[in-house]
Amino acid sequence: MERTIQPLGCFRRNADAVASHRCKVEEHRWVNDRYKYLRLSADADLAGTTRPGQFYQLKCPATNDLQPFLLRPMSVYGVGPQAGAIEFLYNVAGVGTRALSDLPVGGQMDIVGPLGNTFAFESAFTRVMVVARGVGLATMAPLLQQAAKAGVQITAVMSARTPKDLMRDEFLRGAQADVHCVYDSDGTSAVPAVDALVRGLLDARHHDAVYTCGSHRILMMLQELLRDYPQTRGEVAMEQRMACGMGVCLSCVRLFDQNGDKHFLRVCREGPVFPIRDVVGEVEFG
Ligand SMILES: Cc1cc2nc3c(=O)[nH]c(=O)nc-3n(C[C@H](O)[C@H](O)[C@H](O)COP(=O)(O)OP(=O)(O)OC[C@H]3O[C@@H](n4cnc5c(N)ncnc54)[C@H](O)[C@@H]3O)c2cc1C
Repeated sequence: MERTIQPLGCFRRNADAVASHRCKVEEHRWVNDRYKYLRLSADADLAGTTRPGQFYQLKCPATNDLQPFLLRPMSVYGVGPQAGAIEFLYNVAGVGTRALSDLPVGGQMDIVGPLGNTFAFESAFTRVMVVARGVGLATMAPLLQQAAKAGVQITAVMSARTPKDLMRDEFLRGAQADVHCVYDSDGTSAVPAVDALVRGLLDARHHDAVYTCGSHRILMMLQELLRDYPQTRGEVAMEQRMACGMGVCLSCVRLFDQNGDKHFLRVCREGPVFPIRDVVGEVEFG
C-alpha cells in the first residue's frame, strides 16, 4: 500500500525554551467530580514558546499526608492571553495529583517545560479529525484552537464513560466543529461502533489528518483503519509513565516501526506525538 506519510515528528520541538518556572496559582477549580482546571502565571513568555501537544513536568506540592517525589507530566491545555499564562486540565488520580488538587489560589508551584514535540499540523489543511477520550481531551484542546484559528474545519469524535463525564465545552472552548459523542453507558464507544462512525465520516469528506489521544483501543483501531485511507495523516499524543521527562532516564521508551525499521524512542523526548502508523501495540521486552 502506498504510504504518503512524513517522517517522525521528533524534530518539531523547541528545546531551547525548556526551563524551570516558578508560577503563581491564578485559578484552580473542579470541572466535574474527577477533573480540575488549573491556571498559572509565570514571568516567562510561556504562551509564545509552548506548542499544542507539548507538556510540562509539574512539581506537585507535598502535604502532611502526601509526598509526591517525581514531577508529574501534564499536557498544556491552553496558554495566554497574557504571555505568562498557562492552563492545565487534570484527572485527580494518585498521590501527586491529589496533593496538587489542594494547592490554593495565590499559592506557588514550579513547572518545567515546555517539553516534547508538537503535532504535524498545516494551516493549508482543509479538514482534520480529532478522536479523543478522557485526559486526551486536555491534550487535544490546543490543537482544536490552532485549527479553528487557521480556518481549518474540524470533526471531533469525543468518547466518555457517560454524558456527564464528557467535558464537551472544556474541549471545544468555543471552536466550531462537527461533533460526534460516544459513550460507554450506551455502547456507542465500543470499538466496532467507533470504527464504523469514523469510516463513515472519512468516506463522506476528505480529512487531511486524524489526531488522537487518551485511549489505546482507539489508537489501535485507527492504525488498522488508516490502512484504507493512505492520503490521511494520523498522529497520536502518547501517554506513558515517565520519570525525568527529559530523555535521560529512558523509563518511557516505546517501540516504533518506521517502514520496517524498529526503534525504541522516548515518549518524553522524541514524542509525545508520533505517527499512528508507526506505533507497535504489543511488545515483549527482553
Ligand atoms: C505527556 C503526558 C501528558 C499528560 N497529560 C495529562 C493531562 O493533560 N491531564 C491529566 O490528567 N493527565 C495527564 N497525563 C497523565 C498524568 O501524568 C498522570 O495521570 C499523573 O502523572 C498521575 O500522577 P499521580 O500522582 O496522580 O498518580 P500516581 O499513580 O501516584 O503516580 C505515580 C507515578 O506514576 C506516574 N504515572 C501514573 N500514571 C501515569 C500516566 N497515565 N502517565 C504517565 N505517568 C503516570 C506518575 O508520573 C508518577 O511518577 C499525561 C501523561 C503524559 C506522559
